[in-house]
Amino acid sequence: MLLLIVMVNSCYVPSNLRTVVFSSVNNNVCKRLDGDIVLYAIFVDSKFTNPWSKYDIETTLDSIRVATEWIEQKALEDSVDVHIQVAYHKTLQGRVPIKNDFSKKTLSGTLYKKPLWSGVRDIYKWADKIAKEAGLSMPRDTSPITNIKNDLKNRERLIARLRDHYQTDHVALMYFINNYYSDEISATFDISNDNNVEFSIVSFKNPSVIAHEFLHLFGAYDLYLTQYDVKKRDKKKKDKLMEMFPNEVMAFAHRNLSSLNISDFTKYLIGWKKEMPVEYQRLLLKKGYFTAKY
Ligand SMILES: [Zn+2]
Repeated sequence: MLLLIVMVNSCYVPSNLRTVVFSSVNNNVCKRLDGDIVLYAIFVDSKFTNPWSKYDIETTLDSIRVATEWIEQKALEDSVDVHIQVAYHKTLQGRVPIKNDFSKKTLSGTLYKKPLWSGVRDIYKWADKIAKEAGLSMPRDTSPITNIKNDLKNRERLIARLRDHYQTDHVALMYFINNYYSDEISATFDISNDNNVEFSIVSFKNPSVIAHEFLHLFGAYDLYLTQYDVKKRDKKKKDKLMEMFPNEVMAFAHRNLSSLNISDFTKYLIGWKKEMPVEYQRLLLKKGYFTAKY
C-alpha cells in the first residue's frame, strides 16, 4: 500500500477573532508556488533500498520532469507564472547517489520509532549528513561582497548555497530513495513552520507521487485519510474532501497523473487563489470563522 504523509507542526495561526491565516502560505523556504523554482534532487543509496542504477536515475529524472511540466501546465491554466528547473546532485567525477543508511533500516521504520520525536530527529540527522556531502560538490562561494563564507554543514546551509547559485528564493529540496517495499511511504517535513527548512523524501518514481510531495513543499495538505486522522470528526472531513475532489492529486496520488488535477482548495494553500471558496472553509473551520485573503 502506498502511504503518503506530511509532518505539519502548526496548522493555523489566528490573526484576529474570526480570521484564520494558514501557516503554509508565504512561509519558510518554498513560500508560494510561483516564479522561478529549482527542484534540487538528491539520490540516496542505503543498505535496505535498491542501489540506484543509471537506468533508475534516468527514469526517475524523466518522472520528475513529467511532474514538474504537469504543474507548470496547471499553473498556466490558472494564469500563474511557474518555471521549474530540475537540478540534481552529482560529484565533480559525475557520481550521482550519496550513501547514507536510516537508523532503523527503512524510512518508515525510522520515522515511526518510539517516541515519535526521536524518529523525526533521526531523519533530520540523516538528511543533514547527506546535505553536507551534497554541499561539497557545489562550486565554492567566492563572492567578494560576503564576509563569512557559507559553511555547508546541513540542509539549511545547502539551500542557502543553492539559492545563491541558482539566483532564486524558491528551492525545493527532495531526497529520492530507490525503494523496493511496496508499503513504504513518502514524506514531506516542516511545511508549516519557520524553524526547520522543508524537504521531501520520495520513495517511488511515480510522477503523481512526486507532484504530490512537491505541492506539499509549497503548502498543500493531504486530502485523504492519513494515520494522523484518528478522531471520528477528522475522518468524516477527509471522507467528505475525497468525495468533493474525486480527481485531486493531494487525495489520489497512486493514480495516473494525467487523470488528476489541482482543486481550488489546494490552489488556495499553494498561493494560486487569493481566497478559499466558502463551501470549503466550512470543512476546515468552525462556524463563524473565515480563512484570510492573501
Ligand atoms: Zn501527502
